[in-house]
Amino acid sequence: SAKEKGRNQFHFFDPGLDEHRRQRRNQLTEITRALENDEFKLYFQPQIQVDNGAIVGVEALIRWQHPDHGLLNPAQFLPAVDNSHLEVPLGQWVLKEAIHQMNAWQAEGLSLAVSINISARHLMDRSFVDYLESYLHSHRELNPSRVTLEVLESAALEDTNRASNVLNRCRSLGLQIALDDFGTGFSSLTYLRTLPVDVIKIDQSFVLNMLDDANDRAIVESVIFLAQRFAHPVLAEGVETMEHARLLRDMGCNLVQGYGIARPMPATDLPAWVQRWETRRENREDDLLSPV
Ligand code: C2E
Ligand code: MG
Ligand code: MG
Ligand code: MG
Repeated sequence: SAKEKGRNQFHFFDPGLDEHRRQRRNQLTEITRALENDEFKLYFQPQIQVDNGAIVGVEALIRWQHPDHGLLNPAQFLPAVDNSHLEVPLGQWVLKEAIHQMNAWQAEGLSLAVSINISARHLMDRSFVDYLESYLHSHRELNPSRVTLEVLESAALEDTNRASNVLNRCRSLGLQIALDDFGTGFSSLTYLRTLPVDVIKIDQSFVLNMLDDANDRAIVESVIFLAQRFAHPVLAEGVETMEHARLLRDMGCNLVQGYGIARPMPATDLPAWVQRWETRRENREDDLLSPV
């Protein structure tokens, strides 16, 4: 039948699909090699309190320093990793590296909280919480409340009983939980109602154009209102200008993160950035959020 023919074509005669599979396999081989060669890097982006400019922490964001193709963003390699056998190993690398960096700053006298993106599959992995527990047990100097796990609204959390269970165990270890990209998933309100979270992150897609787009502004305002009703602090990402930050502050948003404050940067650049930011805070005559 025509339907069968279509199906056969799909399976056996589509060079595009074959090519796609082959490319993905090659990419996973390359990523395995990159992990062994230590080619992944973490960049860090500051998160600040919008009323007084206090630095509350930094978000760790993965990059791939590729020998031929330069610095790659997550969009260029995470899709291949998602749902593959590398998702958990790469996630573990990020977790260890981020905490290691936090400790290194601490040793230099710079106390910073770190937010770490955890894929839902990694979070729900059987050994995830056990690993965290034993890590924290053997690193008593680490203050777990300085670590936030950023979790995306995703299908992997659909079993909200299990997800709540895992998140509650993380929180009882002292870690903070942020619900990332809030509003972009299919079950935002269900998650808000059922998952134990500490911070709501408004997705940048709503924030970026809110100065010009009344609908986006209405969504941002509503999310802030919702978060307040649930007594969750709310962080807006995609804060590209100080004008964004001022409007968010006036709407009652607590925390902001975006190019308007700082772009993600290598760990080595962060101490100097913190110093510049703090100097500006101390010397400010009027409003920290007025254009520099
Ligand atoms: P995210 O967790 O929502 O991170 C925020 C993204 O917005 C980052 O992109 C950041 O560079 C970007 N961004 C920050 N401020 C602005 C702004 O003002 N304007 C615009 N246009 N963009 C801004 P990045 O680093 O490319 O990461 C993209 C996504 O990849 C992240 O979104 C996160 O979902 C994922 N990701 C990044 N690092 C990791 C990681 O280590 N593990 C996992 N599982 N996912 C990660
Ligand atoms: Mg995030
Ligand atoms: Mg986000
Ligand atoms: Mg995002």
